[in-house]
Amino acid sequence: MQKIEFNDLSAQYQKLKPEIDAGIAKVLEECHFISGPQVEELEQALCDYVGRKYCVAVSNGTDALQMPLMAWGIGAGDAVFVPSFTFVATAEVVSLMGATPVFCDVKEDTFNLDPASLKEQIERVKAEGKLTPKAVIPVDLFGQTADYDAILSLCREHGLLVMEDAAQGFGGTNNGHKACSFGDVSATSFFPAKPLGCYGDGGAIFTDDKELYDLLVSIRVHGKGTFKYDNVRVGLNARLDTLQAAILLPKLRAFDEENNTRIKAAELYTSLLKDKFDIPVVPENYVSSWAQYTIKAKSTEERDRLIKGLQEKGIPSMIYYPKPLHFQKVYEDLGHKEGDFPVSESLSQRVFSLPMHGYITPEIVTYVAEALNSLAE
Ligand SMILES: *Cc1c(COP(=O)(O)O)cnc(C)c1O
Repeated sequence: MQKIEFNDLSAQYQKLKPEIDAGIAKVLEECHFISGPQVEELEQALCDYVGRKYCVAVSNGTDALQMPLMAWGIGAGDAVFVPSFTFVATAEVVSLMGATPVFCDVKEDTFNLDPASLKEQIERVKAEGKLTPKAVIPVDLFGQTADYDAILSLCREHGLLVMEDAAQGFGGTNNGHKACSFGDVSATSFFPAKPLGCYGDGGAIFTDDKELYDLLVSIRVHGKGTFKYDNVRVGLNARLDTLQAAILLPKLRAFDEENNTRIKAAELYTSLLKDKFDIPVVPENYVSSWAQYTIKAKSTEERDRLIKGLQEKGIPSMIYYPKPLHFQKVYEDLGHKEGDFPVSESLSQRVFSLPMHGYITPEIVTYVAEALNSLAE
């Protein structure tokens, strides 16, 4: 058995090397390192792929999440609702704006924002009257979109803006609509480990709203007006490098084939593991892009034992995420206690993710699954 990688970026490079190398060489020859033509070409290709009118390629997924909040003027006294079971950036951008992240619980089966918990938190914040509910950031965790039917209707009812955190969701679909097409605006990340990754940091924002698009384009370059040295608002330096755009173009062309490999691998994992393990659930009409294939142990002790057992067989695994955000030190001021979001708390104690990428083979999946089954009690 070859060495098993958790995410085999090298296999991808070996496959796409001629195209990626040619793309990089072209940028080096043309020396158009900032805002070169490849950036716009990528933005157009991404719009076509996800089915949105406008795309703004940016420096990373965190800036992609922060910039719409800047454009919306979110700030002190505003409440932005986010799931507790996610990567810290989802809540961090809210805090960076001086607003307050209001955590919600997730669903045990899909790991995504629980509309019932969201409703409860919106009503609680409204009843308390201290913060003004402004927006919701549902996360497409592990490659699967959140429950937008329920979330969008709840948000319309309460007049809340919606930003899809599709950092892990790129390539997933929900009722035939692609991730990055839900809500008022969507943000994704091209961090190397994401479903569509570049060779460094990168991200993108999608919207169908021309006014918001124009604001984001301005914010991306220091709040520019008619040109770079006309500054009309506070912005960022949040451009995507031309080199990263050149790297992403061939990777986007290869994406569907890699995505199909992940989907097939997930089906095989599920068929081999379903009798002995609590496997991930993909509801009807959803397709996951399997940023992670995540299973649940019965307890933290069992998880530790399984991870160690896999390790001894040369199989890497990861824990996303070992601590829910409402228990992170950075958010201790919010005063959360054990039991506030029981599903997020329980998941963080039990989940772990198995090797998954666009070049994984049925042999590797079978080897990992058999190793796990032999460790099951
Ligand atoms: C990775 C990630 C981000 C941040 O993306 P970066 O490109 O690393 O800044 C935001 N939200 C989620 C859910 C993520 O997984």
